[in-house]
Amino acid sequence: MDKVVGFIGLGAMGSKMVAHLPADTHRILFDLDTERAQAIAKGLSGAVSVATTLDEFAKAQVVILMLPDSAVVDAVALGQAASPGLIHRLAPGSLLIDMSSSDPMRSQALAARAAECGIAFLDAPVSGGTVGAEKATLAIMVGGEAPDVERARGLLRCMGSQVTHVGGHGAGHALKGLNNLLAATIFAATSEVFAAGERFGLDPAVMHQVINASSGGSFVTNTIWPRSVLPKTWNFGFALGLMHKDVGIGMSLVRAAGAEARLLEESAALWDEAKKQAASNADLSDYARLMMSKMP
Ligand code: NAD
Repeated sequence: MDKVVGFIGLGAMGSKMVAHLPADTHRILFDLDTERAQAIAKGLSGAVSVATTLDEFAKAQVVILMLPDSAVVDAVALGQAASPGLIHRLAPGSLLIDMSSSDPMRSQALAARAAECGIAFLDAPVSGGTVGAEKATLAIMVGGEAPDVERARGLLRCMGSQVTHVGGHGAGHALKGLNNLLAATIFAATSEVFAAGERFGLDPAVMHQVINASSGGSFVTNTIWPRSVLPKTWNFGFALGLMHKDVGIGMSLVRAAGAEARLLEESAALWDEAKKQAASNADLSDYARLMMSKMP
């Protein structure tokens, strides 16, 4: 296994994922929020350093990105003429793994640019939320060349219970976008069903108990509802804006495929509306709150 591993993006997910990297690796951490990176580094055992510039990744054999979206990933990885990005600073032969939920077409372009610099690239997005990140039970879907996937498998297995090679560059990000489009659609439908049940006079806790044990149950009722919607804490730990981004990625794939998608189109329109109505820092679970606030 590679012994010098960089990790960039220590937010809701990255901060928990990095804790599972082996203690016998030298981990180099970076986040725009340096204080946050330093606090996370303090909680890790073994060799850990906090980088203040991308040059400090020159000795990394593998660098993992867990950033908001492709725009940020490209800014970090490609940089600009005046300030070249990570692929120009890593040593040839190193491996860049984008575990963010990024745009598959942009990931394919990034893989090609990385290859020109002798850097291998994998897209390896995750599913399972902050709970999966904390428990290292994420489902990880990997796109890229088979030898690179095998090289990364040991590290990825530290953070997830399932690592699946799903295709070439971009395939992981494509599957992640489609998965989240499906999850968002189930979330929207669940919100409407609970709002209708409440209007009828059903107790939401009783509805949840029954639906979660019945055919209408899902990750949404199993995990999101009890953690953030029923107790009205609205803090699932996944930004509504990030889910909206994923719905957009999924829909562009669906539209490009020319697939029949009346329900998905309606779902995407609902998420557009929610994004406009929600606060900029809204949590995914705020979608259900918005739905309930529409009740008379
Ligand atoms: P987040 O916003 O909590 O964290 C992003 C981190 O990236 C922040 O700490 C931010 O400071 C840092 N960052 C932003 N720009 C940077 C830059 N230029 N250089 C260095 N650091 C920078 O997001 P998150 O919830 O951890 O999500 C990360 C990715 O994982 C997203 O693509 C998201 O869609 C995906 N994802 C999230 C969840 C979830 O439940 N939160 C689940 C699965 C996948």
